[in-house]
Amino acid sequence: MAAPEPGPNLARRRLLVVAAGGVMVGLGTLAGHGGARAGSAAQAGPASPAARTSAIPSASPSAARKPGGVPAGRTRVAAARNTAPRQPMYYLDDGPKVIALTIDDGPSPVYTPAVLRVLEKYGVLATFSMVGENVSYYPATAKDVVEAGHAIINHTWKHANLNSLNPAEQLTEITRATEAIHAATGVRPRMFRAPYGAWSQHVLRCCAAENLIPLDWSVDPRDWSRPGARKIVRTIMKTTKTGSIILEHDGGGDRSQTVAALQIAIPRLLDEGYRFAIP
Ligand SMILES: [Zn+2]
Repeated sequence: MAAPEPGPNLARRRLLVVAAGGVMVGLGTLAGHGGARAGSAAQAGPASPAARTSAIPSASPSAARKPGGVPAGRTRVAAARNTAPRQPMYYLDDGPKVIALTIDDGPSPVYTPAVLRVLEKYGVLATFSMVGENVSYYPATAKDVVEAGHAIINHTWKHANLNSLNPAEQLTEITRATEAIHAATGVRPRMFRAPYGAWSQHVLRCCAAENLIPLDWSVDPRDWSRPGARKIVRTIMKTTKTGSIILEHDGGGDRSQTVAALQIAIPRLLDEGYRFAIP
């Protein structure tokens, strides 16, 4: 878990890379987010690319054959190639003092309910980026999130680093998570967040083809590295401004510091006049 520290201008750097039309964006995050990856893999299953690939069933609905004999999965990859991609969202544009809170890598049977209790206490709505496989383990928890009025978005099936997979596998990671979220909650996600912020032109095209808005973030207190609740709160309070999208985690390991930090940060942000919105 010796992840290198991304620089303070990480979000800005990534924005510039995106603006320049880079194929591989978010590499800084990829490195900086390594701890979350390790933790998530521990919860979600084997982490090696080979294990991940072999875990993807060839008979998933997206690979089903159409009457004409063309595998539907291949058609969707081709469609993804021909779709103009929309760039990831780093900030909300929803008026002064409007921000978004995003909670990644769940659902967790322990930390998701704890986060829900904090959000309910302060009447705040959040966006949960859920890992499809975790949704399949804890569908009732996912349903609780939707029933409390929060949004669930797609965070891949296995928290895969999509850049390590071939194009068809990348699309399967995305479609399979959508199917799991829909099966558990009855709601289809309308946004997608790439694990580790590992965006590529292909991932963005997959999002466009699957009607998913790519969502990134702009405030990262690195709660996954467990720096202490106080430090998480300090980073949130120091770096949040109008439009900020705050990144927190309820899955992938012990998230008690995150829960404790939210208990402090949310009322402080409300006191400062911020309003929470779902992007
Ligand atoms: Zn994640």
